[in-house]
Amino acid sequence: QPSGSDGLVADYLAELHFRISRLSGGNVATYIPELAKADPKLCGIAIATIDGKTYTAGDADYEFTIQSVSKPFAYGYALERYGREAVLQRVGVEPTGEAFNSIILDEVHNRPFNPMVNAGAIAIAETIKGATGEERAETMLTLFSRLAGRRLSIDEAVFRSEQQTGHRNRAIAYMMLNSGMIRGVPEDILDVYFRQCSVRVTCRDLAVMAATLANDGVNPLTGERAIAAEFVADVLTVMNTCGMYNYAGQWSYDVGIPAKSGVAGSILAVIPGQLGIAVFSPPIDQHGNSVRGVAACKEIAQDFRLNIFRSH
Ligand code: GLU
Repeated sequence: QPSGSDGLVADYLAELHFRISRLSGGNVATYIPELAKADPKLCGIAIATIDGKTYTAGDADYEFTIQSVSKPFAYGYALERYGREAVLQRVGVEPTGEAFNSIILDEVHNRPFNPMVNAGAIAIAETIKGATGEERAETMLTLFSRLAGRRLSIDEAVFRSEQQTGHRNRAIAYMMLNSGMIRGVPEDILDVYFRQCSVRVTCRDLAVMAATLANDGVNPLTGERAIAAEFVADVLTVMNTCGMYNYAGQWSYDVGIPAKSGVAGSILAVIPGQLGIAVFSPPIDQHGNSVRGVAACKEIAQDFRLNIFRSH
C-alpha cells in the first residue's frame, strides 16, 4: 500500500487518469495499417523519478510500438558513436514547421533539418552498428532495452506493415542517398529504421527511459549507463525544439518541457534532474500527438509547476 507522499502521487495520477481517459477527440493512426487496429480507449500514465520510484495509472503496462519516441535515443547513440561534428554534417538541429514525414531537406547543407523528423531519423539509423541486418537490429534493441531496464522486443506485424507501406520513407531515403546524407543501401537503413519504430514498450518503460535522460543517461532502476552524460543535453535540446511534430512551438509555450511523441499515441517528457513522464493513448490529433497525452502533460506541468520557463 502506498503511503505518505508516494500515496499522494499515486492518488493524483489515479484521479488525473480518471478524467483524462474520458476525453474524446482524435483518431488512431491509420497510415500504417497495423496501427489502425489499436483500441482507442486505452489510456495509461506513468512517472519515474531519478531515485528509482515509479508511479502508474490505467493501462501503464500495455505494450504498443515506440514509433518516433525512439528518435531522440537513436540520436544520442549516434552522437556517442561518431561525435557531434560528424553527426551535424548529416543532420541539423533546426526545427521545421513541416510535418514529420516531410520530404524537404535544408537547402544550404542538403541535410535533414533535425533528427526528430523522419528524414533525420533515417540518416541517424545508418549509424547503428552491425555487419548484418540482424546485428544492427540487436545493437538497436540492446540500446532500448538498457534505457528501459528490461529486455524489449520487436512487434513483427507492425514492422512488416511499415516495411510494406513506408514508401514515403523510402523516397526520403533515396533522396538522401542522392544528396550524400546516407551512403549505405537505403533498404538496409530503412530496415533498421522500421524495426526501431516497431520496438514494443509500455508506458512504464517510457517513463523509465525519460527518467534515464533526466538522470544524465543512467537508468535509475538498474544503475546502468545508457547514454553518455555529455550528449544528454543535445538530446533534450532537439526534443524541446522539435519533439512534438509541428506543434513543438505551441507545446513549448503551453507545457514547457522537453518531450517526444509517437504516432502509436505516446508522449515521453523529461524534467532534467528530476523525473520522466509518459502517457499513452492511441487517438492522435492533426499534428500526430496523443490527444489525452497532451492534455495529461499540460495538467501535470501546471499542477507540479514543471514548466521550465515559468518560475512560479
Ligand atoms: N514509423 C513511423 C514513420 O516513419 C514513425 C512515425 C511517428 O511516430 O512519427 O512513419
